Amino acid sequence: MSLVYFASSRVAKWKYDDSMPGKLERLLDEINLNNYFQKNEWVAIKTHFGSDGAHRIVRPVFLKKVVDKIKKVGAKPFITDTVRIKGLDYLEVANQNGINHLSVGAPVVLADGLYGNDNILVKAGDILGEIAIATLIYDVPAMVVCSHVKGHINAGYGGAIKNLAMGAVSGSHRHCGWKCGRGAMHTIGEGKLIWDQEKCTLCLQCKEICPLDCIDFKNNVFTYDDERCWRCGRCSRVCPEGGLTLPADDDYFMRSLAEAASAVIKTFKEKKILYLNFLTEIQPECDCMPAADVPVIQDIGILLSDDIVAIEQASIDLLRKQIPLPSSLASEEKINPGEDILYSLHKRPYHIQIEEAERIGLGTRKYKLREIK
Ligand code: SF4
Ligand code: SF4
Repeated sequence: MSLVYFASSRVAKWKYDDSMPGKLERLLDEINLNNYFQKNEWVAIKTHFGSDGAHRIVRPVFLKKVVDKIKKVGAKPFITDTVRIKGLDYLEVANQNGINHLSVGAPVVLADGLYGNDNILVKAGDILGEIAIATLIYDVPAMVVCSHVKGHINAGYGGAIKNLAMGAVSGSHRHCGWKCGRGAMHTIGEGKLIWDQEKCTLCLQCKEICPLDCIDFKNNVFTYDDERCWRCGRCSRVCPEGGLTLPADDDYFMRSLAEAASAVIKTFKEKKILYLNFLTEIQPECDCMPAADVPVIQDIGILLSDDIVAIEQASIDLLRKQIPLPSSLASEEKINPGEDILYSLHKRPYHIQIEEAERIGLGTRKYKLREIK
């Protein structure tokens, strides 16, 4: 059984200790960071920088609290994420969303370089073969994985497993391309995009969202650069008409997320990774989308553990107890209290991520929740 620390978002007393930043500090004191990080050791704080229009991320104030606590044990923290759009632009996105050296008190760096191709091929497992892990994450000896929990059109639920699987792996590798990158999880086979001309209204949303600018509509006919395409699936996700599809399989996707997370975790020694799951601003979609919709579930709190499986199980158990928020996509979709909100929204068997992670030895789904009051 693993221990998962929990701080509720509800405020009982009007004092700093009962605020979310204050409770986060207390959570980090509870687990005793000296047991995980050493003096002068570099510690990556892996988070998601968001996008130009997706502001609901792990807030900089929380990252600052993590940075400050790590500094107190004498270690040297920095904030990092892998490249999603062009590297320099992604750093600007981080800055715009409030994540910069001044606000968080530590350097903010890209884990796989400005071009997103600074990565190392690592043996993952039977599903993925080899994948390209960001060099910085491969090299760093310790890490705090700060995950913004939310829904996801493909993963159904996005937490720590997804943050590592998609977020510590590059979009592509210098030699084996998307087949060793995130796209290997997103798609099956050759992953060719399929355009349905009958359904297409030429809204061009797919073209606008492509991070590599590899979609074209010459003479109103869809074409894309198959060589450069990362198979990230964003274009098909935003298509409002179902006019663009990327071949995928839910079971394959969920299991490959667990396998990629495992490959990343195995580059660290035991007890060198901590996980913080922020169950706040729980929007229906991923932080990489061009906009952040209103939350579908009220803020729940922050979880902390050194067991990725336990923290993910505790997160989904808490999420499943919530009622859908009014004036959100959840109420628009007529999801009733008592229903699994994220499952009802996306119809994805997200529980497979966590079950598979346990099966391959990343942790246990049996946990004890210790709430700080
Ligand atoms: S899957 Fe779509 S959005 Fe992603 S790189 Fe390929 S064409 Fe661009
Ligand atoms: S998003 Fe869909 S409907 Fe819009 S242009 Fe692309 S394929 Fe056509």
